[in-house]
Formats: sequence, C-alpha cells, structure tokens
Amino acid sequence: MNSIPIEVYLSESFGLDDKHASIKPIGSGHINTTMLLSTPKRSLVVQKLNTVVFPKPQLLVDNARLIEQHLSKKQQVGEFNLAIVRHVATTQHDYLVNNNDDTWRALEFIGGSYSEDVVNTVSQAQTAANAFGQFAAALEDFDANKLHAVIPNFHNLAMRAEVFKQVINTDPHKRVAHCQEEVDFCLSQFSLIDELNALAGKVPIRVCHNDTKINNMLFCLDSNDAKAVIDLDTCMPGYWLNDFGDMVRTFCSAEQEDSTALEKVGVREDIFAAIVKGYVEPLKSVLTAAEKQSFWLGAKVMPFMIGLRFLTDYIDGDNYFSIKHERHNLDRAKNQFALYRDIVSKQQVLKAMLTQI
Ligand code: ATP
Ligand code: MG
Ligand code: MG
Repeated sequence: MNSIPIEVYLSESFGLDDKHASIKPIGSGHINTTMLLSTPKRSLVVQKLNTVVFPKPQLLVDNARLIEQHLSKKQQVGEFNLAIVRHVATTQHDYLVNNNDDTWRALEFIGGSYSEDVVNTVSQAQTAANAFGQFAAALEDFDANKLHAVIPNFHNLAMRAEVFKQVINTDPHKRVAHCQEEVDFCLSQFSLIDELNALAGKVPIRVCHNDTKINNMLFCLDSNDAKAVIDLDTCMPGYWLNDFGDMVRTFCSAEQEDSTALEKVGVREDIFAAIVKGYVEPLKSVLTAAEKQSFWLGAKVMPFMIGLRFLTDYIDGDNYFSIKHERHNLDRAKNQFALYRDIVSKQQVLKAMLTQI
C-alpha cells in the first residue's frame, strides 16, 4: 500500500509539477471516478477506471487511442472540426498507471467547455445530436472490426432477453410477485428481437459510441456550439440505430430515468425532431436506405432494452446498477417502459419525422 497523496502520484506519473498539484472532482459521470488534476502550468482530466465494468482497461484505452488517431488525421485535413479527447502518456510511455489496486488514466482537459446533465432546450438537443453525428461521420471510413468488444453483447437484445428469462425462472429474491405485470409486458415485446435479427446483413456495422447521453459531449462556453464528443469507453462495432435510439431515450423525456411520475414520462416531440435533424445532417451522404429505416427500431429498442435490464437487475437482487432504495431498479424499469409505450403510441408522428430524412 503506498501512502503518497494521489495528486502527487498522478502528477509524477504523467510528468506534471507534483509540488503544486491539486485535485478535485469534475463532471457527474456514473462509471469512472473523474477528477481534474491541476498545476499552475497544466490541467489534466484523470480517471480512476471502473474495473468491475471494464475488467480489461487496456482494451478500452486501445480502442480510444485508435479512434483518437483516426479523428486526428481527419482534423488535419479539415474533415473533423470538433476537439478530440486525447490520452496523455505516462513518463514510462504507457497510458495506464496502477496505484493501490486502482487503475488510472489521464486525458487532455478540454477547456472553455461545459457539460449538461439534462436536455432543457431544442437547441441543446440538436447541437448534441449533431456532434454525435459528426463523430459518427468522421469514423465512417474506420474499420469497426479493429475495435475490441470491451463489453461483449452490450446492445444484444436477444442475449438480454435470455438473461431475463433465466432470472425470472430462478427468482432468487422472490421479487417476481412484485412485478408480474412488468415481467409479462417484457415477455410480450420480444418480437423486437425478430425485428433486429431481420437487419443482419442489410444494415452496415459501424463504429458506435454506445453512450450518447448529453453529458458525453461538451459545449463551448462562449458560443454554446458543440466542442467535443467525449467518453469513448464503450465505442464498439454496432448499428447506428443504437446511438440514435439512446439519444431518443436520454434526451426526449422531461423526467429523469428514475422518476416515478410516470404520467409525465414521454417523448417531447420537438426534441425528437431536433435529434433527427442534428444527427442526420452530418450523415446524410453516408446513411443507407436500410439504415434510415432502422432508426425507428432504435427509438423503440433502446428504452425497452434498458428497462429490461433494470427489471432483470431488480429481480436478480440489484447486482449491477447501484440503487438508493429497495425498488429503485423497478422504478427505473417502469419509467423506461412508460417512455417506450409513449414512443410506440406516437409512432405515426415520430415515424413521419424520420421519413423526411
Ligand atoms: P458515464 O456515466 O457517462 O459513463 P464516465 O464515468 O465514463 O461517465 P466521463 O463521461 O468520461 O465519465 O467524464 C465525466 C464528466 O467529466 C463529463 O461529463 C465531463 O463533464 C467531464 N470530462 C470528462 N472528460 C473531460 C475532458 N477531457 N475535458 C473536460 N471535461 C471532461
Ligand atoms: Mg460519461
Ligand atoms: Mg462512460
């Protein structure tokens, strides 16, 4: 066990002035522990990686570095205009350091920026969706198969459904009785898996960000324009419908993911329209016809799949998502199913927005 203060240890590791270093939390990420390490000359974002979620941190760094390099080339020829979040090498020319069983990395701090946790305006939604679209477009010619599957089957609904069925069969905490209605609802929606299977070979495999929440991009402090897409931890091969759908899931409801005010959970149609407009604009020359059609499925699948995962975790005894009270994961599941139902009920109007692509 080493007892060197962490800011000193990290400053030494990443070649900063350790005598004048200070450290403080930054942002509101849920997965890693993110801090700003500052010295009079330089600031770095340092992250203690969550090795439960990412048992092989090197894979995540390898992926992010490949993406950084590709985006840098695009930036040099004027084909990518956002800032790039870059890993900082240690004095030993590595990208990870271990301290008391914790694994840390450093990223260049993107100054003059701010992040939002909640979508409040149409303009924020459009700016953020456009940033994710620019990111996707710049990676269109990057071979997605070069990326490691950092979390295998991350957006595999068929696999999530199998895990769910196993958990309801074993019912280890006798909780199914509290949520039979939600369980039956899930079982009644598994035709979504067939809809997804039907895309195989028709919709291209792309580089997906896989966590397209509003706080995974940065806005410019002075102009409110997009500054950068960040948090590349889950970049993996997949369908762009997932990134589109996760924006719908996380931007469109005016309620938080764990709100129990289900009557207020639903799609804000103007936000949905802004996502479509913002995301598609940078991608319009590369989207295939099948891909455009698949976005509607993405809008449905993402809230349903996350709801299914919350419900599975509730029945399984809350092993994955951290909870603040006993029914937290059940509340989250009900919330996501309310959003999913609202999306399905507004099919006609939402699909019409998508056909304008
Ligand atoms: P999530 O819960 O989305 O998985 P995370 O734990 O992986 O988040 P990040 O999204 O990487 O963490 O970082 C958390 C927050 O820290 C961001 O939302 C942003 O506010 C801030 N941040 C991260 N990297 C940078 C950077 N390079 N420059 C400036 N701010 C940053
Ligand atoms: Mg994040
Ligand atoms: Mg993350």
